[in-house]
Amino acid sequence: MKFLHERFEVRTKERFEVIDVTDKVKEFIYNNSVTNGLLSISVPHTTAAIAINEAERGLMEDIVTSIRSLFNPERAWKHNLVDNNAHAHLAATFIGNSRCVSVVNGTIQLGRWQRVLLIEMDGPRSRLIELTFVGE
Ligand code: ZN
Repeated sequence: MKFLHERFEVRTKERFEVIDVTDKVKEFIYNNSVTNGLLSISVPHTTAAIAINEAERGLMEDIVTSIRSLFNPERAWKHNLVDNNAHAHLAATFIGNSRCVSVVNGTIQLGRWQRVLLIEMDGPRSRLIELTFVGE
């Protein structure tokens, strides 16, 4: 059985941003010659999230628009008295900080249009993406 753990850094440029990190995830699978198992993709952050969806430019903007409208950054959230980013904590709570994907015969099991997306909600910052693989 293999247990692998790696992290890589992504520098975000905007307060809100959706970044396609699928190629880095595929590189990890390829570089480590893994064949079958489970891969966890996570961020050790409280104001960013990981999602799997289509990396279509308009949709990526719609994701940001929906987060802004659901978790209005202008609202008087209690946490804003601390560091003015309650919307990002709330959205990260609902979206989640990780996704788990199967790897079969050396291929990550994503559908044709599925991509791994880092969702930045309180950038710009340096973000870490952690990849943890268990399998063979
Ligand atoms: Zn905060």
